[in-house]
Amino acid sequence: MNFSYKNILENAYHEIQQKDNDGKIATYIPELAHVAPSKFGAHMTCLDGTSLGIGDHIEKFSIQSIAKVLSLTLAYKLVGETLWERVDVEPSGTKFDSLLLLETYKGVPRNPFINSGAIVICDILISQLDNAKEAFLHFVRDLSDLPNLTYSDKIADSEKRTGFRNVALCNFIKSLGNIKNDPDDVLDFYFDMCSLEMTCQQLSHTFMFLANDGCKVSDGKPIITVNKSKRINALMLTCGFYDESGEFAFRVGLPGKSGVGGGIVALYPDNYTIAVWSPLLNEHGNSCKAMKLLEEVTTHSEMSIF
Ligand code: GLN
Repeated sequence: MNFSYKNILENAYHEIQQKDNDGKIATYIPELAHVAPSKFGAHMTCLDGTSLGIGDHIEKFSIQSIAKVLSLTLAYKLVGETLWERVDVEPSGTKFDSLLLLETYKGVPRNPFINSGAIVICDILISQLDNAKEAFLHFVRDLSDLPNLTYSDKIADSEKRTGFRNVALCNFIKSLGNIKNDPDDVLDFYFDMCSLEMTCQQLSHTFMFLANDGCKVSDGKPIITVNKSKRINALMLTCGFYDESGEFAFRVGLPGKSGVGGGIVALYPDNYTIAVWSPLLNEHGNSCKAMKLLEEVTTHSEMSIF
């Protein structure tokens, strides 16, 4: 390697920090509106043990839809390939909270990363587990090596009061027969799942299993099989950014997942994971600065999955 990720990360960070201030904070979840727009941090964790952080990389933020990758992982682990009878694996080309394609596809969401898909995944977890909320938290605590991780009541309650769109989605899917449990229980779990908070450092650590053939790096524990890990990464590449997934693959060239809290986690299999956070979002709900930083990292290193 004739380049240094540390230099690339630092140069890109400072340049973007000064120049790019486009985007808007998500305010439809009132609690998210309180975050300072200037927050910006990134953390990269490499399989060789290198760990690089910059800016607000050790400050917690709401990971929101990034948690959908973790709920998918647990559901896929529990039910295997039958999962795809309930959720498809195609990019939707629609906004993350769209109701549009549900009727066309008989209540089967296009993929597990749009809200409708993640809601069905929550339903599957509730059917599979005695206490899905507790079991999911336990699963993420183990993956992240954060034994004290909890849901944020503040964020979850805020979304529970205003998440009318998700209530509509869940009831609509129920009417089409693809929600098996009480919609109130499914939504309650969905909002809690989205309320998890982590730092960039913790997020990049948590996602290392997907850069390491499905095994945790800290203790070598297998979480999912190599093939399941391949498929989750493929879904992140094709569906991780909603109707901007093509753009992300085009500019960055890595599997990744965004959240409306302004976080993005991306990974380069067998190499590294990187989590970036800036709450200013573009019209697709993806962080402008985080996307730009990731583009700079893969462009200047000339290293991506392509
Ligand atoms: N909790 C958010 C919602 O359902 C998650 C959306 C996101 O991060 N894109 O609207």
